[in-house]
Amino acid sequence: MNDCIFCRIIAGDIPSAKVYEDELVYAFRDINPMAPVHVLIVPKTHIPSADGIDGTNSAVVAHIFEVIPKIAAAEGLVNGYRIVSNCGPDACQSVKHLHFHLLGGRQMADSMA
Ligand code: AMP
Repeated sequence: MNDCIFCRIIAGDIPSAKVYEDELVYAFRDINPMAPVHVLIVPKTHIPSADGIDGTNSAVVAHIFEVIPKIAAAEGLVNGYRIVSNCGPDACQSVKHLHFHLLGGRQMADSMA
């Protein structure tokens, strides 16, 4: 998956601002932050999008959702946060490697769309 920018970030070929890493997950700051805290949480295995989650790989997604509260706490998001995963062209997914945006540090807009 050398043409996948997030696989290259995970491999260390492209620099990133790491906030968390374990054997399954890598998390780093979004290069174009949309909120005071904007972290991307990605599985180390290449899954193209949420549409590619199935019984063979869903354990890593469950793990990501165990990791998210730890990152949120470390980032000081005591008043809440938003998690977003864009899937496919209608959702404007720009990087075809499953990722979850963790957004916080300010009041989010009421409308998600
Ligand atoms: P999405 O549009 O949901 O696919 O989100 C992709 C995100 O990846 C965007 O918010 C980009 O700003 C972010 N991004 C792209 N390249 C990098 C990079 N090299 N380092 C950190 N974030 C990146």
